Amino acid sequence: MKQQILVYILISFAFFSCLSPQNNEIEEEKKIGPITIVIHGGAGTILKKNMTLEKEQAYREKLAEALNLGYEVLENGGTSIEAVASSIRILEDSPLFNAGKGAVFTNQGKNELDASIMDGKTSKAGAVAGVTTVKNPIMAALAVMENSPHVMMSGGGAELFAVEQGIEIADSGYFFTKRRYNSLRRIQKKEEEQSAYLTENPDYKYGTVGAVALDSDGNIAAGTSTGGMTNKRYGRIGDSPIIGAGTFAENASCAISATGHGEFFIRNVVAYDIAALMKYKQLSLEDAAQEVINKKLVEQKGSGGIIGLDQAGNITMTFNTAGMYRGYIQQKDNAVIKIFGE
Ligand code: ASP
Repeated sequence: MKQQILVYILISFAFFSCLSPQNNEIEEEKKIGPITIVIHGGAGTILKKNMTLEKEQAYREKLAEALNLGYEVLENGGTSIEAVASSIRILEDSPLFNAGKGAVFTNQGKNELDASIMDGKTSKAGAVAGVTTVKNPIMAALAVMENSPHVMMSGGGAELFAVEQGIEIADSGYFFTKRRYNSLRRIQKKEEEQSAYLTENPDYKYGTVGAVALDSDGNIAAGTSTGGMTNKRYGRIGDSPIIGAGTFAENASCAISATGHGEFFIRNVVAYDIAALMKYKQLSLEDAAQEVINKKLVEQKGSGGIIGLDQAGNITMTFNTAGMYRGYIQQKDNAVIKIFGE
C-alpha cells in the first residue's frame, strides 16, 4: 500500500512538472532589451542661467565621449562591466567631474577617492575607499572584484593592491585643480564665519560620476566613482564605494549608480532600496526610483539622484535637485544628453 502511494505521488509529480514551465523556460521568456549605456556626472544646483554656453558644450562633449565609448564596447560584444568601467574612466580623466582628476578637496586639502563596481550576472562586486594615489579608482575597484576574494579595500592597503595589480598611479599634484581648491577655500571661509561644521559644497554640485549598462548577453552592471564631498573630514567615506548605497546591480532587478549627499544615500541604502522595491513589491524601475529619490529622500531633505536600468532595457535618470549631468545611448548614433531639469 505504502509503495502504491509513493508510485502515485511520483507519477503525479512527473505529470504536473510537465505541465508547468521549467525555470529556464521562464528565463527565456523574459524580455531582454537592446544594448544600453546610461551615465551620470553628478546632480545638484545645475541651472542654465549659471552656465556659459562654452561650459555647457564642454560637459556635453565629455558626456558624449564617455557614452560613445561605452556603447562601442557593448557593440563589439564587450560585457556590461567593461562598458561601465570604460565610460567611467573617461569621466575620471576629465577635470570637469568630481572623480579622478577634478576630485574635490578634503578639509585637510587632500583628495581622497572612492569607487565601486558590481556585476549583475554574478553579484560580484569590488570597491576602493579613501585612495589618494590611484589615477583611475574604478580600475582599482574592478581589480578588487576580479582579482581578490574581497569586496572593499581602503586607504594604503587599497593603494598597495593597486600597485601590485599594475594599475596606474598618479603623483601627488595630479588631482589638483584650481576650481576645486577654490571651492574648499570658499566653504572653509563660510565655516569660520558661521562656526559650523559644513560638509556640503556651497553651491550643492556633487559631480560624482557613474554608469550602468546592459550588454548583448542580457547582463547588467553598475559603477560609481567620486572624490566625495568638499571639506569632508579625514577618512570620511561616502555612499559611492558602498555596495547597496551608491552602487548596486543584480540581473533580477536593476543596476543603479547614485550621486548626492552620501550620508543620506548610506542611511537609506538607496541603490538596494530601489532594487528591493522592484523585487519584493513588483514596482517598475521608474516607480521604485521615484519612491526612493522623490519621496523618501525628499522627506528627509537628502538631495541627489540616480541612474538605473533593468534587463528589459527600461531606463531611469531620477533626481530631486535642479539638474543632473546625464545621458544614454540605446539606439546606435542616438546619444541623448541632458543637464538641467527638463
Ligand atoms: N555621493 C558622493 C558622496 O557623498 C558625492 C557626490 O555624489 O558627488 O561622497
